[in-house]
Amino acid sequence: MEKKCKNKKCQRSLTEGYKHKYCENCRNEQVKRIKDTGKAALGVVVLVGGTALSIATKGKINPKK
Ligand SMILES: [Zn+2]
Repeated sequence: MEKKCKNKKCQRSLTEGYKHKYCENCRNEQVKRIKDTGKAALGVVVLVGGTALSIATKGKINPKK
């Protein structure tokens, strides 16, 4: 039975014994997307985290005491 890439837009046939559900091309695309998403998520975390920290520490923790 011929295995095909799970990406409906791709449908490339996969070589026998290929361990992944997606072809090499789609996997590269996914990695790229994950990296971009990770970078964006990290930016949000830093932004939100910094804001939350300043709110949480406001009036409670005063380093200039
Ligand atoms: Zn593919």
